[in-house]
Amino acid sequence: MIIGIYLGFGNWDLEFSTTERSEEAVPLFFSTKKKDIPHGLWLKCPDCGGILFKKTLRENLRVCPKCAYHFTLGARERISSLLGKDFKEFSQGIKTANPLNFTAVKDYREKIAEEQKKTELDEACLVGEGHLDNKKVILAVTDSRFMMGSMGSVVGERITQAAERAKSKKIPLVIVSGSGGGARMQEGMLSLMQMAKTSAAISKLDTSSIPFISILTNPTMAGVLASFASLGDVIIAEPRALIGFTGPRVIEQTIRQKLPAGFQKSEFLLQHGLIDMIVDRRKLKGVLKQVLECLNI
Ligand SMILES: [Zn+2]
Repeated sequence: MIIGIYLGFGNWDLEFSTTERSEEAVPLFFSTKKKDIPHGLWLKCPDCGGILFKKTLRENLRVCPKCAYHFTLGARERISSLLGKDFKEFSQGIKTANPLNFTAVKDYREKIAEEQKKTELDEACLVGEGHLDNKKVILAVTDSRFMMGSMGSVVGERITQAAERAKSKKIPLVIVSGSGGGARMQEGMLSLMQMAKTSAAISKLDTSSIPFISILTNPTMAGVLASFASLGDVIIAEPRALIGFTGPRVIEQTIRQKLPAGFQKSEFLLQHGLIDMIVDRRKLKGVLKQVLECLNI
């Protein structure tokens, strides 16, 4: 939600804009005519503080042109950046239920309906088949905007079906993960068991010699990382992504020690062998193609 505030400074009007995510309050325009000021066209990079034109940012795959900070990319934009329009979605018939009749501030079903409206997705994961240039792939993309990309039963089942299809059709599997939530508490144990289910499906790819390339975006945490996301034959991360199980603050409080600088960031994990490479989003498609060629697929 964009909130515009006007503050008078002499003859100047200074507009500030904030959004509900990481886009901080930022002065946008100086103008003497309030009515000419367009809303929501600019945002501030949380890393370098640069003022960015949203349209330019979109055209740059939501990477800051000044400092290469990677903003969150929605699932559909991600799919488009890798496969263009060649994406035949499957497993769409699987719908989220409320098996535990979970109600907190609001009913789980109401919460899901809100997330669907906000993101224009039916769940936090899309799966489909298409071509990355001339390479056939099964692609699954989770979206961290939908209930923090948490893995409920639908996400787990779609990932599992994607792995099973990759195995039966002998096509490489690519999963782009983004999850700040891991398991979805509203589904309790049914959510936790998705970790075992997706891991089992991925392990069958291994025995069938079908490659699985896992791409980790900011953030990839908790049950998602602790299951399918860390099981790639090749694991690629976006720059400066937060990747881990528990957040650094909780770890520090538990072990009562200061963590090293950059702990749980892609660059730190590359140095310590958890991931294989860090790739700028704008080069990801080309690198993926090269990896598939190296694997002789
Ligand atoms: Zn920046």
